[in-house]
Amino acid sequence: MKIWEMTAKEILDLVSSRDVSAMEVLDSCFERISEVEPQINAFIELMEPVARLSAARVDSMLDDGENPGFLAGLPVAIKDNICVKGAPCTCGSKILENWIAPYDATVISRLVGQGAIIVGKTNLDEFAMGSSTETSAFGVTKNPWDLSRVPGGSSGGSAAAVAAGMVPIALGTDTGGSIRQPASFTGICGLKPTYGLVSRYGVTGFASSLDTVGPMGETVWDCALALDAMAGFDKLDPASYERRGVSYVSGIDREVRGLKVGIPEELLDGVSPDVIDRFEAVVDLLKDFGVEIQMLNIPSLTYAIDIYYIIAPAEASSNLARFDGVRFGKRAEAETLDQMYASSRGSGFGKEVIRRILIGTYALSAGNKEKYYVRAAKARTMLIEDFKKGFGKVDLMISPATPYAAFGIGEKIEDPLSMYVGDLITIPVNLAGLCALSMPMGFSQVSGTDLPCGLQVIGKPFDENTVLRLGYSIERAIEEEIRSKMGHMRRGLGLAREAELVD
Ligand code: GLN
Repeated sequence: MKIWEMTAKEILDLVSSRDVSAMEVLDSCFERISEVEPQINAFIELMEPVARLSAARVDSMLDDGENPGFLAGLPVAIKDNICVKGAPCTCGSKILENWIAPYDATVISRLVGQGAIIVGKTNLDEFAMGSSTETSAFGVTKNPWDLSRVPGGSSGGSAAAVAAGMVPIALGTDTGGSIRQPASFTGICGLKPTYGLVSRYGVTGFASSLDTVGPMGETVWDCALALDAMAGFDKLDPASYERRGVSYVSGIDREVRGLKVGIPEELLDGVSPDVIDRFEAVVDLLKDFGVEIQMLNIPSLTYAIDIYYIIAPAEASSNLARFDGVRFGKRAEAETLDQMYASSRGSGFGKEVIRRILIGTYALSAGNKEKYYVRAAKARTMLIEDFKKGFGKVDLMISPATPYAAFGIGEKIEDPLSMYVGDLITIPVNLAGLCALSMPMGFSQVSGTDLPCGLQVIGKPFDENTVLRLGYSIERAIEEEIRSKMGHMRRGLGLAREAELVD
């Protein structure tokens, strides 16, 4: 087995036992990137020279008997809306094309502080607005399972990089599903932490009352370990929450027997039959484990999309006001100041971002605010209360992560509403500030190729431990099938490239 094929846990074991060096891990990672990245387009920027310096530093610390941290030598890719000092941070937008981040986001200093090596910045829908990575100004990312399909979004670059074997861990952001949906489309795991658990300092704001940052990896265990490094109070993020002494890896293998798990019926509405088949198989598995399954009704879930598409654009219109051609990025030539603002924004932002700014500004404007924004905020409170009632009866909730497997490139991009409703299952979790994991639960055979589909495990605020524990128990039962299919897909990718080069 090559190093790039390994999980984070396997790599870290080899580095800490000194069977391989951090530099050898990085060599294997960049070898894989050069082999498959031309087909996938997961990265906006690769940072090989800096990464090599960091790997050399980790190795010399190990040589000197020092401890570089519990992620020593682990290659990590970063969604390009998270600041890494000295590297571009484009947010997938032309408006920030040449902007270089002057400081590290807190999540970056925490990962690097544990010895992780940042290898590059990954592609995303512009300003994280989208579900397919098609709204990026830097080209679409391809789904490694089928290059004619999207990897999901907005963290599609991070998801595809992990799925294709280019990195064992990547960071994503999740405002309405952007970690979980691409994880589901690419057969990997992604954790959306509870609002407030992981600092957003240095992460470009989209909708500040919903934004979260989280890990994406091949296994549940790998995500738990990355979360161990990232979580915790940060005075630089005003929404950060104080939680001490919690470890996400320890106790992950505890028994799940006796846990009460609810299935909100509303989240199964409109889910395709092949995904439902896989979901039912997981439910049977959980029953075998001695988990108590219960159907739930959370009626306000049906309003989630409507609430989100008022609140998220409203907050985005305010967050994006700072990109005015004066302080950040692109500035258009113009006669007057007003023309300069208009033309910098008009030529810098893409269609989807402009659409969201218009919706948000309208929803907040005098005369409309009460009708839209205030009502959406009230409906959101109702949803939070309904979830609380649901969690009075169960420890966790489960659902499919997405209503269908990955769709084709170009299939939905001209029809924003059909793109929006695809996030029906993930959005409520952000509105209520809960935590949720997306993990592979099997494959859809509908299209003739194996396309992964994801399970969502939803937890109460700050109950990541129970979410991860249930996820881990399922993973151990079905891991063999998932990893063998993943291995097959990855080998195919490399071979296709070789054939192309021979031609
Ligand atoms: N797809 C959703 C949107 O376009 C969610 C995006 C996200 O989570 N960043 O708003």
